[in-house]
Amino acid sequence: MTTKDRISGRSWAGQLHAHDRRVTRQRLAVLAAVESSPHATAEAVAEAARTELPQLTLQSVYVVLADLTELGMLRRIEPPHSPARYETRIGDNHHHAICTRCGRIEDVDCAVGHAPCLIPSSSSMTIAVADVLYQGICADCAVPAVAPVHPTPGQ
Ligand SMILES: [Zn+2]
Ligand SMILES: [Zn+2]
Repeated sequence: MTTKDRISGRSWAGQLHAHDRRVTRQRLAVLAAVESSPHATAEAVAEAARTELPQLTLQSVYVVLADLTELGMLRRIEPPHSPARYETRIGDNHHHAICTRCGRIEDVDCAVGHAPCLIPSSSSMTIAVADVLYQGICADCAVPAVAPVHPTPGQ
């Protein structure tokens, strides 16, 4: 570990080297953007990364995201009716809860702490990973849409 390591304690450069990838500003900017806003879409990642690299195109962000996902440095989540999201929290078999109204995604820790945390009652396969998507309504969306402006006296 050197002082150049990211605040997370992981060295992106070291991981890229380990995968025979050149350490480019594009890759570092994308990794930093995903780390600072987990479950971001490619568009959001591009927008965040452009604060560092203004010329970065959405197309190159897609290419970098796909490559880093394939290497296992990023995890891609594909919620229904929503563009794919990316995160740097990998390898802990955590799950996701998505709000069906606003699309907010939250991490849900693995139910038993190791993969696969759910054993299917019947399957001919040897299960390695359980990836669960909980769907519900987040706390913000659970607030009634029409709230009284003034509290009713006597309540
Ligand atoms: Zn919501
Ligand atoms: Zn997550």
